[in-house]
Amino acid sequence: MKRSFLFSLFFLFLFIQDLASIESNEKPVPIQRKSKDFYYLLQTPHLRKKKPYSWEKEGVSLPKITKEFFRCRGIAQNAPRQIDASKILSDCAGGTKHPLSFVQGKEGVYAVLLDLLNFVQKKTGKQVVITCGHRCSLHNAYADPSKDNLSSKHLIGAEVDFYVKGMEHEPEKIIEIVQEFYRQDPETKNNPEFTKFLRYEKKTNVATPPWYNKEIFLKLFRKEEGRDFDNSHDYPYVSIQVRFDRERKEKVVFSWDLVNNPSI
Ligand SMILES: [Zn+2]
Repeated sequence: MKRSFLFSLFFLFLFIQDLASIESNEKPVPIQRKSKDFYYLLQTPHLRKKKPYSWEKEGVSLPKITKEFFRCRGIAQNAPRQIDASKILSDCAGGTKHPLSFVQGKEGVYAVLLDLLNFVQKKTGKQVVITCGHRCSLHNAYADPSKDNLSSKHLIGAEVDFYVKGMEHEPEKIIEIVQEFYRQDPETKNNPEFTKFLRYEKKTNVATPPWYNKEIFLKLFRKEEGRDFDNSHDYPYVSIQVRFDRERKEKVVFSWDLVNNPSI
């Protein structure tokens, strides 16, 4: 017992001494500097190269354009539009509620439109934004009730309107890339009917004379041209119409039969 008591006393002594030393540390200690002392400045850091996120990688993570990108843009909740005293138009229920157009009896759009847009994406590494692909007859009339638009090739899956994200103000470059497709495609590269584009000089609804080859008709809509329900954005856009079916070797012409009869 006596021995442990002595031990306790000893530890108490140490503790008190500790307290005393803490107190003494609280006294400010003046820092002495010589006149030539200086701070070491940090050098500009050499940063490591940032790894891009998957969505930043150009041309890698861009989704491949399929016919699903062409679904009609009608919105069921859109209020009816009064065209004149006797005509009121309603929008359709939306592209998920009705099929696409039918091409050679199969639901879809003309395959060359997919090939061309995927080529543009691959070449630019930037995303193609389709603003108007297929339009059903209800949405086509609702979006643009003008007489010229009634026979639009959007109704038969043979037309697309689009711009390229990040190149919104360079539509001429996109038109050049679309033309380049034909100079690279093994099927067309040696055929001037496809590689040589002519200008269409007759009057249209755009100021820039359109370009065309045997297969497509290319239009450039400036910022203030061709604005309708689907193309209500602020950018110029490009429109591609299919004029010739390479597989069937026949002209692609609008007809209501093609719109209404899926078996053709
Ligand atoms: Zn529709």
